[in-house]
Amino acid sequence: SYRKGGYHAVRVGDTFAGGRYIAQRKLGWGQFSTVWLAYDTQTSKYVALKIQKSAPEFAQSALHEIEVLSAITEGDPESKKCLIRLVDHFKHTGPNGQHLCMVLEFLGDSILQLIRYNRYKGLPLHKVREICRCILTGLDYLHRELGIIHTDLKPENILLLSTINPSKDPIRSKNGPILSRPEGGMNGGPVINAIEKKLKQRARRAVARISARRVSMGGGTPAAKPERCLDGIDFRCKVVDFGNACWGSTPIAEEIQTRQYRAPEVILQSGYTYSVDMWSFACTAFELATGEMMFAPKIGQGFSEDEDHLALMMEILGKMPRKISVGGLRSKEYFDRYGDLKRIRRLKSWPLSRLLVEKFKFSVNDAREFAEFLSPILDFAPEKRPTAEQCLQHPWLNKTSESGVDKVDAEMSKLQIKADK
Ligand code: ADP
Ligand code: MG
Repeated sequence: SYRKGGYHAVRVGDTFAGGRYIAQRKLGWGQFSTVWLAYDTQTSKYVALKIQKSAPEFAQSALHEIEVLSAITEGDPESKKCLIRLVDHFKHTGPNGQHLCMVLEFLGDSILQLIRYNRYKGLPLHKVREICRCILTGLDYLHRELGIIHTDLKPENILLLSTINPSKDPIRSKNGPILSRPEGGMNGGPVINAIEKKLKQRARRAVARISARRVSMGGGTPAAKPERCLDGIDFRCKVVDFGNACWGSTPIAEEIQTRQYRAPEVILQSGYTYSVDMWSFACTAFELATGEMMFAPKIGQGFSEDEDHLALMMEILGKMPRKISVGGLRSKEYFDRYGDLKRIRRLKSWPLSRLLVEKFKFSVNDAREFAEFLSPILDFAPEKRPTAEQCLQHPWLNKTSESGVDKVDAEMSKLQIKADK
């Protein structure tokens, strides 16, 4: 892809925009671009430099992304809306052509990396709430004030705020002195690296404590592997990747959203609006809380990925109302006239709250409350889904989180009442 019309090859120390930005290290890449950590010599801050492939179709989509990002940034001067900000944009000419470049605020790891880091076990519910609040704040602003549909919401596109500076001394341009390399391991970004550091310190202290105790007790249990702990991390985050965003008044593409986060009306081609983002939001929230994708459809013998997807939805959410199942351009491919799937006849029913208890070991109470929050957002009827603004008012998001101790106390007192009876 590093040829005419493709990516622009960057080396550490390369400068951009007349020397204003200096490339530090590669942060990631997508289908259309490579993204670099760069030092902004004008503001003395780190930024993310997204360098688009140069062919006209990529330039076109970069222009669209710049338009959307500009609207987002202009409408939110105080950066309160949990959406990525555009700092600057310019053209850069290289051996492969002319590349549109976006300068974005520098963020940390994605929520997907956080889920992986936590070994796919799901995050504690009070952390899930914090992240959900950020995403919904972003969506509310995007939908209501800007009239934009994101169309590709998923854990990968939610980035944590980077609270850690990548390095005290940036790498200077090729002509200047090279001072030191920015920190940052291969796996974790700056946020996860900081957690790792904290954990190692904590583990060292724990080992010291245990060996001290062992000496005093003359033996004892071996030191346990330290639990991965997410305490003390700033869980503010921002929604990124507006490459596929569209104006709510003119939805264009037919097939939007990443498979697992795709709403039923998109599969059935019944037309879509802002509520497609709400569907993806609910799938994302589920994944945060459980560590597993809500729907992971697969092609099978005699049925397509779409059909498996629809079946999985109905197993958890109940049968799709006939009006909806037969109402799309593609309905006839999948459903008979009674609104039953043509090629997948037997569905297992596994309602959300039961799934959370039986498969993911939620307490009955946690499962009930979380399911009460998610179920309305996963309504098959798009117009019945609550808006981001309405979700922000939901009691589940606003409940003050009980600490573990409170919970144990509550359970104990319940048992006590039973015993007294
Ligand atoms: P594409 O549109 O080509 O898919 P993305 O905008 O998704 O590009 O960016 C590609 C990758 O670059 C992301 O997955 C992420 O790892 C990294 N990245 C993008 N923007 C930032 C940012 N602002 N701060 C830090 N890393 C970023
Ligand atoms: Mg991307």
